[in-house]
Amino acid sequence: MNILMIYPKPDKRKKSRFGFSYEMLTIATVLSKYHRVHIKDFSCESFDEGEFIEYVHRENIDVALVECDSYALKRSQNILHAARIIDILNQYITTIAYGNYCYITKSNFDNAKHTITENEINNVIDCINQFEQNNQIPHIKAYDELPYVNRDMLLKIPYYRENAKNTLLQTSKGCENTCIFCQRKGWQCCYVTHSDDYVLGEISNIKSSGFQNVWITDENFTFNLSRAKRLVKKIIQANLHDNLRFFISSWANVDEEFLDLANQCNVRIISFGIESGDAEILRFYRKNINIDRVPHIIRYANSIGIFTVGNFIIGAPMETEVTINETFELIKRCELDQVNIKNLDYMIGSSLYELLDDKLKTEDHIFACFENGLNDFKLNDIKRIKETFLLEYYKSHRSTIEKKIQIHGTPF
Ligand code: SF4
Repeated sequence: MNILMIYPKPDKRKKSRFGFSYEMLTIATVLSKYHRVHIKDFSCESFDEGEFIEYVHRENIDVALVECDSYALKRSQNILHAARIIDILNQYITTIAYGNYCYITKSNFDNAKHTITENEINNVIDCINQFEQNNQIPHIKAYDELPYVNRDMLLKIPYYRENAKNTLLQTSKGCENTCIFCQRKGWQCCYVTHSDDYVLGEISNIKSSGFQNVWITDENFTFNLSRAKRLVKKIIQANLHDNLRFFISSWANVDEEFLDLANQCNVRIISFGIESGDAEILRFYRKNINIDRVPHIIRYANSIGIFTVGNFIIGAPMETEVTINETFELIKRCELDQVNIKNLDYMIGSSLYELLDDKLKTEDHIFACFENGLNDFKLNDIKRIKETFLLEYYKSHRSTIEKKIQIHGTPF
């Protein structure tokens, strides 16, 4: 069969770093061993309805899998375009909706002929197998049975050819921390890890394919800190870190030993989820980090040349000007190189969303603000407070980061 995998364009354009849908490429790789698989990624390709229909006919597409994404960090929700694409394709071929939005809502997506509602590769396999009795794809029985994603499949798309030094790597999925705002629990309830050998083999492939920047997509690379240390040590021992640079997301529960190993392994950026400088708000978020140790840990990472990103949220129900200032003071003490401050967002899939009054659940996400009765700050005021702080912060941090780049080079 000819199968078309489609990533629709995001509902809102966000300035985002390099990335692609790991989910899409994983499924494409698995199916491509048995079928001819094509990819259209409208997060980076332009969409023209006429050309698209012509493409579907020219390539004799039989089935289309349309990814319905949700608010993952690096991408965005894309369900408006997904629905439109499905409506167009329904006139000609079979459509299957899959993706985080479907896994969270657990219901049929719009007019798609089929919807995969569980985040489980075998459900995609079963769905495809029903169309061709003579070419049955066997089930994947373990996480390590997944083939390494075939990164060459993206190279027909100019954006990925232009970013040929960058790739993504997934060493684990999920995180068992209890943050109530975290939407990931809605689509990935358990924590699963690839074996060390699997990861080493994939990095070796990545290296021999000429990639230089490896963005690790794990929700929380250090959730199991002893595994993270062991893995990083093995990468160094196998000399796989040479000529590669790694970028990871982590909670702040790491120690100096991990940071030293990460630095040795050419981990150039660590993006830390810290969220707030106020202990009561962290308890409300059920974040489980030791806030007293955070400034020391971040400053230690800075001192050895790792570039640090801090992610914060303001807008908890008990947020006041005092607690916002506590967060800003923490940011200054940490001397983070990049700071992302978001409004608290009650997102579908998170436990926070479940706590919302039903009458507020009219959208898939609701900002915490005075207008929605969720805190004492108007949406525009939160925006202004954030922007004013960040402007000042980056001005005062400029010379520090310039010095860091002089000594340690740019992060990528
Ligand atoms: S540590 Fe990060 S990935 Fe884990 S639950 Fe919290 S926000 Fe989600």
